[in-house]
Amino acid sequence: FNIVKASYVATAVNAGQYPESELTEIAFIGRSNVGKSSLINSLCRRHGLARTSGTPGKTQTINFFSLTGKLPDESRLDFMLVDLPGYGYAKRAQTARATWSNFIEEYWLKSTRLKLVCQLIDVRHPPMESDINVYQWLVEHGLPVQVVATKGDKIPKSRIQQHAQAISTGLNMPVLAPGGRVITYSTVTGAGRDELLDVIRIILLK
Ligand code: GDP
Repeated sequence: FNIVKASYVATAVNAGQYPESELTEIAFIGRSNVGKSSLINSLCRRHGLARTSGTPGKTQTINFFSLTGKLPDESRLDFMLVDLPGYGYAKRAQTARATWSNFIEEYWLKSTRLKLVCQLIDVRHPPMESDINVYQWLVEHGLPVQVVATKGDKIPKSRIQQHAQAISTGLNMPVLAPGGRVITYSTVTGAGRDELLDVIRIILLK
């Protein structure tokens, strides 16, 4: 399974601006600077598709991208990749509810086509309070979550397993749940890309 086409569709700051579409949605979320834009670009193999930025807390927008994946039998699967604003740049501890503005909650609660949330966490550190709050909020609302540890090339290979375990323990992830495995991704080496695409394929074919 691979992405053969990716294009920008729309930017929204409220529900009225969501694009009209019937496509299944897969959303990406994480703390600011976690590497979300880089990962989206790596997944789509389109440099500059999602804009990377060194300024945490930039404008809170939801960006929609239309993607086409090709299966080994040459058939195609279209879906929508939804790039949600980074959270966690405020210094003080927050609840998930306070972490995002009403319009993001509106997105979670209104999007009937949302089938998977990829939550990104920096592989180098155990989950922060905002990560834990967001993860718990998503699980409580019945949203399937795939945790992706980013920047996998920044720690030695021999320690990846231990760090991934610290993330799943920190989040109190159910061991046997779908997506109960942390995928470690590196946009530098491409590690984890096939694995994440496989999870997306399975969700799309469900
Ligand atoms: P965003 O704010 O979550 O969209 O994060 P960005 O994609 O802008 O990435 C933040 C910083 O981390 C940038 O300097 C990226 O080059 C760097 N980065 C992102 N992913 C990786 C990775 O897999 N490996 C390495 N070494 N650096 C990464």
